[in-house]
Order: sequence, then structure tokens, then C-alpha cells
Amino acid sequence: KAYSKDDIRELIKQENVEFLRLQFSDVFGTIKNVEVPVSQLEKVLANNLMFDGSSIEGFVRIEESDMYLYPDLTTFMIFPWATDERGGKVARLIADIYTADRQPFAGDPRGNLKRVLKDMNDGGFKAFNIGTEPEFFLFKLDEKGNPTTQLNDKGSYFDLAPLDMGENTRREIVLEMERMGFEVEAAHHEVAPGQHEVDFKYANALDAADNIQTFKLIVKTIARKHGLYATFLPKPISGINGNGMHMNMSLFNEAGNVFFDEQDEMQLSQSAYHFLGGLLKHGANFTAVTNPTINSYKRLTPGFEAPVYVAWSGSNRSPMIRVPAARGNSTRLELRSVDPTTNPYLAFASVLAAGLDGIKRELEPNHAVDQNIYLMDEAERKRAGITDLPDTLLDAIEALEGDVIIKDALGDTLLRTFVDAKRLEYQAYRREVSQWELDTYLEQY
Ligand code: ADP
Ligand code: GLU
Ligand code: MG
Ligand code: MG
Repeated sequence: KAYSKDDIRELIKQENVEFLRLQFSDVFGTIKNVEVPVSQLEKVLANNLMFDGSSIEGFVRIEESDMYLYPDLTTFMIFPWATDERGGKVARLIADIYTADRQPFAGDPRGNLKRVLKDMNDGGFKAFNIGTEPEFFLFKLDEKGNPTTQLNDKGSYFDLAPLDMGENTRREIVLEMERMGFEVEAAHHEVAPGQHEVDFKYANALDAADNIQTFKLIVKTIARKHGLYATFLPKPISGINGNGMHMNMSLFNEAGNVFFDEQDEMQLSQSAYHFLGGLLKHGANFTAVTNPTINSYKRLTPGFEAPVYVAWSGSNRSPMIRVPAARGNSTRLELRSVDPTTNPYLAFASVLAAGLDGIKRELEPNHAVDQNIYLMDEAERKRAGITDLPDTLLDAIEALEGDVIIKDALGDTLLRTFVDAKRLEYQAYRREVSQWELDTYLEQY
């Protein structure tokens, strides 16, 4: 919403807001926040609130640690649940990060997305619209209140109570979201036991990324209230479906959805095919960003509705990209590889850059694959031009480092901090001895 400073002053008085929370995201997509009493409101509105950037992952060194928070007034929101005994409320604003000399900070994922969106605008497009389908598990807490991986139901796709024990929790999540201004399109039990999905209406990339951050906070908060732990981890339990976060996307110009063309056989425009060509071309290379954890690669395995191959289809759900049936203004591409551990600001910047590169270079996608890829053998896949998504985080990082377009979409600062951190993460994992190794080898050798 387009709030003025006066609107915000007024709302804060009317609604008895006592604290202001300024939120931003680090390179991993973790939400950080600074909370100040409303007495500091004028300082906040004047972009004068400072914080110590050196304590945030991937931000600055100690010697240049003072940074400013520039609140984005359109993101003002009052949390419906955060009331104290006196009825005081907590409001939040999402902020952009500025350096001590008042320049946009290159390591700020949200600021970086704005930069990439500006390039898109300069190229003649009005909006990159994104609707995500985040999935999550609800697990039991132990006696001490710590998360477990114990399921709280045996439900499956679209099941109803009593199988679906998460129903009350999910319903309250939806109500809370609506109170906070979300338009929820669907909420349902997913295929795996204990697994849920909530879909909300698409928005332009910046708002869509902000919405995901807020959504995760709501889900985790409400789950706790119900004595459960909500996790977006891609594969918390092996052998059952993992958590994806399908990314539906379309480009709009003044005339509407650029991907739609009534005359075409599939009713897709040349730009849509080229954008798709770009996604396929860079798909393996942006995977480090869309699937950034060790655990992400446990999900990208055959048999669990998650993709393993770089290909597209008009109907089948096994490839990385599907073109959902809807046309007109709903014409969109669904990228199915993305998982909810991604930093949405980085993911949207990378995916957009990939698609725009396709349009710029007029990249043609391979033929659509309308059969189950898992049933094709290697030779058949090769003939169809189908390649593999990276197997591990290390493969994914190496692919990223070889792709100029995706590297540019992140910018030097974010790229460096991201890649360094992910390499360390991989090394730490590689040194660990897992239960699987002991079970498989201990008695044999
Ligand atoms: P699925 O067919 O995979 O089950 P859903 O219906 O669950 O997909 O989710 C569709 C998502 O796509 C929603 O978030 C919706 O708002 C979004 N969406 C619809 N039209 C567009 C569009 N033109 N651009 C981007 N996202 C869109
Ligand atoms: N859970 C599946 C995944 O890991 C997706 C299921 C679906 O199609 O909604 O991507
Ligand atoms: Mg789903
Ligand atoms: Mg989907």
C-alpha cells in the first residue's frame, strides 16, 4: 500500500503501536530485525536509524560497520498477534540497507533485486510477476519445546480431518494472513504426511519476495502457538516427498501479459519461448541460488514430484519447468526446482536475469517433453537434449561460478559472500560421518 509518512504516524496512534520492527534479510534469506520503541518513529522515517552491519552474515567488516536502514513505507504492517498486556502492538517496516555514506549497500539482497528489476524496466517491461507455492511440514515439539521430526498426522493430498490434524493450524495461518492483507488462493494438505501448502496471489517480484518472508514468519509463529514446529527444510525425512516452492512467473508490459499470444499453437508468445529458453540455458547454473542447502539436493531425486532434469513440459510434472494450462493474463511458467530455503530476493533476481537473457539472445527451448522423464533411459534423454540438474551443492556452486549472467544478477559483493559461505558449508558437511555410512559399511569392513 502507498502509505505516506503521515498515514503511518496516524495509524500508529490509532492502533496503539508501541514498537516498530525494521526488517531486512541477510544473504541466506534469514530475516533480521531491529526493534525500537515508537518514540524513535521520526528517526526511522527520516532514514536515520543505524545498526551494526558487521554482526550480520555477509555484510561488512568491523571497520566500516555503521549502516543505515531506509524503511520502505509500502511495507508497513501491524502484527495482529503481538499485543502485550497493555494492548500495545508491534508494527513492522521492511528496510533497504544503505552504507555510512548513504549509498545503497551492494550486499543487500533486496536492494540488489531492485537493481535487477530496474534493468528489466529499462528493457521495456513493466513487471515480473511471481506466485509461489511454498510447502512445509508440521512436526511435534518435544517436552522441552525443541523441534522433532515426528509427524503429527497421516494425511495426504487434499485430505480432510480427522486425518489432517494440521487443519486447525493451517486455517489459523490463513486467517492471520488475510488479516495482514494477503489474498490466499488455496491451502491444502500435501502428499506427504504432516505436509501442507498455502498459495497466495501473485505479485511483482519485490512484493512477492517480501511476502514470502512474512509468510514464513506467520507460519512459524502460528505453528508454535499450536504446539507444533513448522519447517520449510526441503527434505526433512527421506523416502517421502520434500518441500518445494514452485515459482510461477510472467512478464507484463503496459498491454498486459507478454507471455500470451492467442495465435500460437500453444498460445505462448515468442517472448515466452525465449524466456523459457533462457531458463533452460541457465537452469543448472542458478540452482545454487534456488536450492542453496546441502539438504536441497536430497529433495532433487527421482520419485517425489521434484525435478531432476532440465526440461520443460506443457502437462507433465516431472521436468524442471511446466507451463500450466491457464492462458490470458494467467499465462505463466512454473519453475518446479525452487525450494523454500532459497533467499527469494536472490532467486528472483537470478531467474529473471536468465529469462531476460533468453529474450535478448532469442534462445529457443528444446521440444517439450510430454512423457514421464523418469521412465526414459539415458540415451533417450540425450536425444531429447535433456540435461541433469546438479547433484550436490558443490556441483551447483561450480556451475554458478561459470555463468556470467547469473553472477551479474547477484553482483560481486553478494556473489562472493554467497559462494564463500556455501563452499564452507559443503566442506563442513563433507567432513561429517553419517549414519548411512555406518549402517552400510561398518559391519562389512
Ligand atoms: P498448481 O497448478 O501448480 O497447483 P497453484 O494454482 O497452486 O498452481 O498456484 C498458482 C500460483 O500462480 C498462485 O500463486 C497464483 O497467484 C500464481 N499466478 C497466477 N497467475 C500468474 C501470473 N500471470 N504470473 C505469475 N503467477 C501467477
Ligand atoms: N512436494 C513436491 C516438491 O518437492 C511438489 C508437489 C506438487 O506438485 O505440489 O516439489
Ligand atoms: Mg504443492
Ligand atoms: Mg505447482
